[in-house]
Amino acid sequence: MIRAVLFDWGGTLTTFHSVDMLDAWRVAASVLAPDDIDRMAAALLAAERDVWARTTTTLRSATTAEVLRTASEAVGLPVDEVLHDGAVTSYLDQWAPTTVSRPQAREVLHALRQRGLRTGLLSNTHWPRDQHESWLARDGLLDLLDARVYTSDLDVVKPHEDAFRALLDAVGVEAGEAVFVGDRLWDDVHGAGRLGMRTVWIRNDQVPGYDVTPDAVIDDLADLLPVLHELGSTASRQSR
Ligand SMILES: [Mg+2]
Repeated sequence: MIRAVLFDWGGTLTTFHSVDMLDAWRVAASVLAPDDIDRMAAALLAAERDVWARTTTTLRSATTAEVLRTASEAVGLPVDEVLHDGAVTSYLDQWAPTTVSRPQAREVLHALRQRGLRTGLLSNTHWPRDQHESWLARDGLLDLLDARVYTSDLDVVKPHEDAFRALLDAVGVEAGEAVFVGDRLWDDVHGAGRLGMRTVWIRNDQVPGYDVTPDAVIDDLADLLPVLHELGSTASRQSR
């Protein structure tokens, strides 16, 4: 029996955006090193790429503050927390337009709650929790998600099982009672399926592929409700 439906955030509850990450870091670099923007931006980008590479290596999580610290040290800039806070604010403002939720997200979450299902969110992110929560509140989603877990608050990232366990514990369900919806085959589908969760892939051909078969595939969040009934009568494909 399904008791909870859990979601990834970027590309799942939001529309996927292919963003020039260097542009976003240039905004932070102009605060941190106005006389050396190019070099600082390149160092920030390199530090962030190292963080994302960990989803297939150490699975260790990071914070935006850590990215700034690593980059500052790499270019020989003193680590200044106040300056860093200002740079992070400008950097996150730059990202804001890409954080808008899918048009159907609110309606779908509301419908799940109406059916008595619990809901939750698990995002691989180095951005701070407060920023995520303010974006969710802006779009009317915050109160429709029973638990929200951000890997910037954890030691590990998806697909590490401890990241999924943190969300399952927060929602109060077992893996076998949960469906996980995500747009990444490795981080989301493989990670959640390995624990015995049923998985729904919201198709995204712009992220790296991985040879795993989700229990269901949808192209639009609105298609989730019809497939849930079907999933309720089957076990997770990966645990069969
Ligand atoms: Mg995603």
